Amino acid sequence: MPIAVLPVHLVNKIAAGEVIERPASVVKELVENALDAGATRIDVAIEDGGRKLIAVSDDGSGMTAADLALAFAAHATSKLSGEDDLFRISTMGFRGEALASIASIAHAHIRTRRRDDPSGYEASASGETIEPVRPCPSAAGTTVTIRDLFFNTPARRKFMRTVNTELGHITEQIARLALPHPHVAFTVTHNGREISNLPAAASTATRAADLFGRDLAGGLMPIARSSGPIPIAGLLGRPDAMRSAPRWQYFFLNGRYIRDRLLSHALREAYRGLADPRNYPVAMIFIEIDPADVDVNVHPTKVEVRFRDSQAVHGALMAALRQTLNAANLSPSASLETDDFDHPAAPADQQRRASLREAIADFFKSAPAPQPRLIVSEQSSVKSPHAYHCEQPDDDAFGPAVTTLPLMAPRQPIPLPPQSSPMPGPIAEPPSLDPALLPHAIQIHQTYIVAAGNDGVLIVDQHALHERVIYNELRRRLTGGALTAQRALIPETFHISTADAETLERCGELLARLGIEVGSFGADAAAIHQFPALLVQRGVPAADFMRELLDKLAEDETMDSERVLEDVLAIMACKAAIKAGQALTTTEIDALLAHLDEAEKASSCPHGRPTTLRLSLKDLEKQFKRI
Ligand code: ADP
Ligand code: MG
Repeated sequence: MPIAVLPVHLVNKIAAGEVIERPASVVKELVENALDAGATRIDVAIEDGGRKLIAVSDDGSGMTAADLALAFAAHATSKLSGEDDLFRISTMGFRGEALASIASIAHAHIRTRRRDDPSGYEASASGETIEPVRPCPSAAGTTVTIRDLFFNTPARRKFMRTVNTELGHITEQIARLALPHPHVAFTVTHNGREISNLPAAASTATRAADLFGRDLAGGLMPIARSSGPIPIAGLLGRPDAMRSAPRWQYFFLNGRYIRDRLLSHALREAYRGLADPRNYPVAMIFIEIDPADVDVNVHPTKVEVRFRDSQAVHGALMAALRQTLNAANLSPSASLETDDFDHPAAPADQQRRASLREAIADFFKSAPAPQPRLIVSEQSSVKSPHAYHCEQPDDDAFGPAVTTLPLMAPRQPIPLPPQSSPMPGPIAEPPSLDPALLPHAIQIHQTYIVAAGNDGVLIVDQHALHERVIYNELRRRLTGGALTAQRALIPETFHISTADAETLERCGELLARLGIEVGSFGADAAAIHQFPALLVQRGVPAADFMRELLDKLAEDETMDSERVLEDVLAIMACKAAIKAGQALTTTEIDALLAHLDEAEKASSCPHGRPTTLRLSLKDLEKQFKRI
């Protein structure tokens, strides 16, 4: 085939392939244009997850008839005049290709008026055709309406997911655009119903609270002002309020949302040693940098950038984060127990703790010879991951050789027995204990149980084993139907976002199987009417659990998959299990060890950690050079 220059509409369509992945990409481009036009309020209307309609109205500068005539043209922009500008980008857009490429794959219409102009104008474009500009009445500002996205690109259309999924992406885009622009008011409607209303706010903290709710945003710490050449501001989550997904981490460079591995790394490093490394801190971080020191023209949607001196940026961020976390004096136990850092424990919370304490005291009074039951003490339920490392083992007592042994038990696939058995309270009556085992088990460092086995020594991680036992039991229960639930007399409530409400709706069936029933409670809260009996017994705070569960569910879009269920059961088991650092009675130790065999079949806890280490007599003999 001879070489031919591609027709313009085809060039635009190819460009659209890079920039417009889904309806949320259109929302991003249109809102960015509104922000570049100096809007103070932006209204976004969506229909059918954006497939049918996306309309963005702003009260910004508006366009002249002459500008409007060029708006749909490829490579037409008012934001870049010479080559020098390309290395000093301060607007959100600059490529001049968004409107042209959107119009090549949808029906696009613009209505606009400059504040001082007597008349407004409209223009439309679709596929290969651009209609000429015509006068028409218009409010000051601009409204861009996009209908039937991907009408002429069936391959892309097929890639669009459910309405809820697309809506979720749109909501996420709005968050990324609204966070760095708190002074701009935003509304979002879907099929005529308002799903988000963000009034103009004086601070990022207020905007974050409006976006994510006070449960999440209320406890955030402002980043200590840094005065270096790279100013950094923002909000950080406390190490005791970590999330199971990185969903609440936002980095902004000069007001633009970016993803950057180096910055994520700095964030992870800053929390190292303060929190469980498997979890993610909440973080909204704003970095200002001289536009000449960063190239934003390396990625079609500009979500990745290239720094001239990335080490300097990493260093500046690291310093700002460390300073903030140090200044907050986050000794985990102190911060958890006093909870006084601009986030006082709600009276209801204190009351709940007090009544829990009373209930436990009552239990012991009324049951002088306690059944083999494990009770989570109120104190241990707030223990941090640091409890795992609170004391060093005494080297003299064990001899240094022990620590160098190959202690890991071999991993095996996790069997999921289909048989059903009565739900153990927390832990059921011990069935048949190996009598030889009983008198020889002791708890050390309130974390491990050391027991004599027939062929050596067992070291059990009490939390890991209990977690595994509960997990297995929950699985067994679920194969026989739903988990046992308990109805609340006074339902606990918690804040939810629009996205959360949709997740709850979408996952109703899954939640029902787990014994969870949640109803709406006002505009932005939900009430927990029914909660799994096991978690109630174990004193797991329902609202906290629901928060974590929602994060987990939102993370995974393939809702009906077995994996999500497993993840959720793992969270449940972890919450319900006894914690490290909790003293156990001999009866409780025996009850736990009674389940050892079953857990041994699966040698790791649901998080993949081993539950039990075995030292055989052979191992011991070798170590002591008996053989
Ligand atoms: P870019 O934003 O990269 O310049 P676009 O294709 O997104 O390219 O927009 C083309 C031009 O149309 C912009 O440079 C701007 O002059 C004008 N424009 C687009 N949207 C708006 C709006 N909401 N208000 C005012 N002008 C707009
Ligand atoms: Mg643009």
